[in-house]
Amino acid sequence: MRLTATFRANDGKGRVRLAYWGTIAGQGAGMTPPYCAVCGKDFRGEYFHTGKGGDLLRFRDYAPLADGAVGMPRGAAWFCRMHLEDARTLDAQPLGEAIEVLRRRFGGFPPPAIGPMPDPELWVVCAGSNLAAVLRLVRSSSGWTPAQARERLMAGPFCLASGWPCELAPWVELLRQAGASVEIRYP
Ligand SMILES: [Zn+2]
Repeated sequence: MRLTATFRANDGKGRVRLAYWGTIAGQGAGMTPPYCAVCGKDFRGEYFHTGKGGDLLRFRDYAPLADGAVGMPRGAAWFCRMHLEDARTLDAQPLGEAIEVLRRRFGGFPPPAIGPMPDPELWVVCAGSNLAAVLRLVRSSSGWTPAQARERLMAGPFCLASGWPCELAPWVELLRQAGASVEIRYP
């Protein structure tokens, strides 16, 4: 099942940040945000920006929310990509029983720490052969000194910046053009 989402809230940095609202099976419903029901992983950032990171599943006891109601429908839960396929094989059971099976299989996890939605991160995995060009880009995007930038580049993969995908995209493009290997990661 696909969800559509719109977001609206403040992230505390003065930017308008989007709060989670979802639509399940075409029915309007304010949903709880994407935290895995097994391990508690917070995949709000990835789900919001890419629609990935996990999904919402319905179980045998699924009951849609009444019109205008907010919360999580009975018998529905989010699962991160690590636990999604295992959860899906149990969706003919009521949610509570499926969760028990999954917790026995994967063990207990601490409850999720609820906080602001983390931004995606731009990681430089490998500088490549054009070190001088990559060094210049790292310096201008981070404000680090030449020595700091060189030290980070030599130390292995590092997080260069965090922000919204549209803020990171120009740097991704420039770094790739300079021969660096970069990744967008969702913390
Ligand atoms: Zn999980």
